[in-house]
Amino acid sequence: MQELIGRAADILIGAEYAIALTGAGLSVESGIPSFRGPDGLWTRYGQPSNLSYRVFSQDPQAWWEQRLNDEAAPGNPTYDLKAAVDQALPNPGHVALADLESLDVLKSVITQNVDGLHGRAGSQAVLEIHGNRNHLRCIGCGSRRPRDGYLITDLPPPCIDCGGIIKLDTVMFGEPIPAPTLAACAQEVHRCDAMLLVGTSGAVNPAAQFPLVAREQGAKIIEVNPMPTELTAAAHVVISGGAGDILPAIVQAVRERINA
Ligand SMILES: [Zn+2]
Repeated sequence: MQELIGRAADILIGAEYAIALTGAGLSVESGIPSFRGPDGLWTRYGQPSNLSYRVFSQDPQAWWEQRLNDEAAPGNPTYDLKAAVDQALPNPGHVALADLESLDVLKSVITQNVDGLHGRAGSQAVLEIHGNRNHLRCIGCGSRRPRDGYLITDLPPPCIDCGGIIKLDTVMFGEPIPAPTLAACAQEVHRCDAMLLVGTSGAVNPAAQFPLVAREQGAKIIEVNPMPTELTAAAHVVISGGAGDILPAIVQAVRERINA
């Protein structure tokens, strides 16, 4: 194990441009339920319709009314996830990724998580490819703003910039990932020469393709996950364990090498 951690640290320090790709497994340690897997929200409640975004687009007012009802009453996945995200704190894995950025070892984090915990842990360069639950986004002009402090009265809420329709920033099923975010992710993937995978199962595109594209271009891939995933075969270093244990150990190994 210690040897693997050392190899991961060597790769990260030796890289010109190392990035991380994170998924639900990282935030499970913060108490946020995953979607798939034995205790996943969708396992318990059923997977949302592939037409979520079409449902929203056809009647945003009805969608918002349902949404606000769900948020207020227990017994549905919206309530469970909101309650978990509202209470969640960054865990040592999030903090370790922020530490690697402040050490200038990690250049950015691409995350599939919508909980905003990377930012709260101190990471600056974060691309939230599936959006952020704590933000709203206008489907007209694309502007984003924190939901906190934004008074929702008229439904659907109108954009104060363009008058367009506001939705949650979270990317719905059937909704295209906002083009600027996708372009920024692609740029990071093409630029990186090392990629640290944390808690991502490799089941959801387009993020699942990022390690494969990076590897094709010569990047070294490090995977940290308690279980083998669809990306394990593509990784140069595989460390089996939880992010809260492994990532702080990688930070320590990086510090020892920098100070040596
Ligand atoms: Zn707008």
